[in-house]
Amino acid sequence: MAKGRGRNCAEFYTHKMGVDAERHMALETAMRTALDNGEFELDYQPKVALRGGQVFGMEALLRWRRPGLGVVSPAEFIPLAEETGAIVAIGEWVLRTACRQLRHWHDMGHTQLTMAVNLSPRQFVRQDVPALIRATLADSGLPAKALELELTESILMSDGTGVRDALLQLKAIGVTLALDDFGTGYSSLSYLKRFPIDVLKIDRSFIQDLAADAEDASLTRTIVLMAQSLHMKTVAEGVETLAQLSFLRRCKCDAIQGYFFSKPLNADAMTSLLRDRRCLPAVVNAVNPRQT
Ligand code: C2E
Ligand code: MG
Ligand code: MG
Ligand code: MG
Repeated sequence: MAKGRGRNCAEFYTHKMGVDAERHMALETAMRTALDNGEFELDYQPKVALRGGQVFGMEALLRWRRPGLGVVSPAEFIPLAEETGAIVAIGEWVLRTACRQLRHWHDMGHTQLTMAVNLSPRQFVRQDVPALIRATLADSGLPAKALELELTESILMSDGTGVRDALLQLKAIGVTLALDDFGTGYSSLSYLKRFPIDVLKIDRSFIQDLAADAEDASLTRTIVLMAQSLHMKTVAEGVETLAQLSFLRRCKCDAIQGYFFSKPLNADAMTSLLRDRRCLPAVVNAVNPRQT
């Protein structure tokens, strides 16, 4: 019986792999035309300060809306875009679009808002990122301090001097550098000293079980303390519950991003949220008043 089940599994996986390969090839072909056809969009997810509860910035998240096929997740197509090199053109579009949109919100009076954009390691390999950032800032007319770049730990590991030079140039331009998904990669703590990082985004996997898992709670608290002593800010990713929020307030994390406050929104919905000056409800701000 076990044998029989094993064979069924094998058949299932073989079939699935065939389907995946087909889907992979179809996506690769479609991606070549998607940019020109205007199939990419950005959603924006607000970041809220735990002190005061105000929206101070947002992260741009890429969406690929395929006619008749719905939205493809970036988790699926970004790795593919990196493989094929399409990430360079797509990445330029993301930066330009996000910066122009932020400029629009600045012009509406929300002049303190910052925009965070994800960069893939391949972009650093394939192009002059500091030159791209200078051009994008000039195009949008935004001050450099309004732009934050989210990097992954793998970027820091990819090669020593090239990336470090690029990051130092970016710091000189005046943009903010954040380390995304912090805690999930393999980078050693010495990277935090070697590279000019301003913000640690604590990965959702730590936040998820904060209430139930004492180790996650203690790691999160430690990351915040370490960041403070290195003069870095902390943003908790994927905050979904009041319990998580309260814990993060208590350990003096600087900001949260997650469904608890808002899912990623299209530009129009974000405009409404900004116009309404939505912030964390007062009752939430009143949690642990001793700590504020
Ligand atoms: P990320 O940069 O870590 O972005 C956060 C992801 O967590 C987003 O997924 C967001 O929708 C999701 N998220 C936010 N709050 C919550 C929450 O409370 N609960 C849960 N379960 N999820 C939450 P998304 O939009 O699917 O993006 C996935 C990843 O794709 C991003 O992870 C980022 O690594 C990559 N990505 C997205 N846009 C771009 C882009 O323009 N360029 C590059 N290179 N990568 C991008
Ligand atoms: Mg990110
Ligand atoms: Mg992240
Ligand atoms: Mg994450």
